[in-house]
Amino acid sequence: MTTSTLSVDTEIQLIAAGAPGATGSTCTPGLADGPWVFDLQPAPSYGPGASLADPIPADTPRQGVLPEVYKTASKDELDARIRAAKATLGDRVVILGHFYQRDEVVQYADFVGDSFQLANAALTVPQAEAIVFCGVHFMAETADILAGESQSVILPNLAAGCSMADMADIDSVEEAWAQLAELYGTEPDADGRVPVIPVTYMNSSADLKGFCGRNGGIVCTSSNAATVLEWAFERGQRVLFFPDQHLGRNTAKAMGVPLEQMPMWNPRKELGGSTEAELLNARVILWHGFCSVHKRFSVAQIERARAAYPGVQVIVHPECPMPVVDAADSAGSTDFIVKAIAAAPAGTTFAIGTEINLVQRLANEYPQHTIFCLDDVICPCSTMYRIHPGYLAWVLEELVEGRVVNQISVSADVAVPARVALDRMLAARP
Ligand code: SF4
Repeated sequence: MTTSTLSVDTEIQLIAAGAPGATGSTCTPGLADGPWVFDLQPAPSYGPGASLADPIPADTPRQGVLPEVYKTASKDELDARIRAAKATLGDRVVILGHFYQRDEVVQYADFVGDSFQLANAALTVPQAEAIVFCGVHFMAETADILAGESQSVILPNLAAGCSMADMADIDSVEEAWAQLAELYGTEPDADGRVPVIPVTYMNSSADLKGFCGRNGGIVCTSSNAATVLEWAFERGQRVLFFPDQHLGRNTAKAMGVPLEQMPMWNPRKELGGSTEAELLNARVILWHGFCSVHKRFSVAQIERARAAYPGVQVIVHPECPMPVVDAADSAGSTDFIVKAIAAAPAGTTFAIGTEINLVQRLANEYPQHTIFCLDDVICPCSTMYRIHPGYLAWVLEELVEGRVVNQISVSADVAVPARVALDRMLAARP
């Protein structure tokens, strides 16, 4: 269990350089490379964490060549350039930094939070012409859906995708929907509940949010998944939940849905790989998707933490597999984790099962506690990690010159129904 105070980025670089005193290991040596090595490579070069070999989805926007000056500039040069560009742009730009973003980027953010908090934070600065989203592609899409007409949303590196989001694409979901309609029909039951309601996790493409908007469905976050499932059960006999099986399973199980009523839908198999009887008995149909980062956490890690630190509080994210959530003291969204640590009495020891950049930042912000990541191996979300200060300097300096690069723009035919699904989620509060 490491309790380093260094930033994750610094640790990765020290380990790669074999620096004296550098301890620990990373899940892939590729993390130490400048992320621009991925920009122009043909597949395979896409995907977070352990999934660096994932093929690039066909219509994924590709990052072009980053000008050489941003690849070779020192840390101090990039810092000076980013600060100068930000000062020149003033209120015309707002920079959003996701909790999982590296500290070397987060330090420039006007707002730090989870994806939905950040999209909402952008709404508080309508004067900003440009929203620079230091996160991943689906987050920038959501920000664009919620942003004002005159605002441009910029993703500094277009190779910053999310492999979980990519595990459910619109064609596969449409195909699943057609098969389910054939099996269930489309008529409501005696209580007026339709056969199935689609629910998509925020971590999905805008296309899928639009699909939910068009088909009576809704979006959820890891904070409000139970509220959203209740909303869906009031309107539907069952739910098709995508793309994260673990969030769906953990949430539905906590609500009392038996595991045998949660069949998996594998889009590569007929009827998702389940039988008709299993699907007819289903309450929640779980898409075969997962987060490569949260999948790494294990019950064995929790047992080791409990042995090393008696009394340790284990908190994990609900994207972790069910046995891990069951073995933890509590599970919740990043916001839940941040608030739990902030509210704890000094001297509390926490073992956290979520992305390492957030855990390390919390360890540094709360020195009165002992806080460490359950996973000893340093394995950040490697697509989030592709937002390097060099890309941030580039997009900001282009804005200073009056040019918008790497704009994420969701077309109206997708954005309008996606907004419907997001608005249903907001109305289903808490
Ligand atoms: S941590 Fe997981 S879900 Fe979040 S952006 Fe990375 S791969 Fe996607």
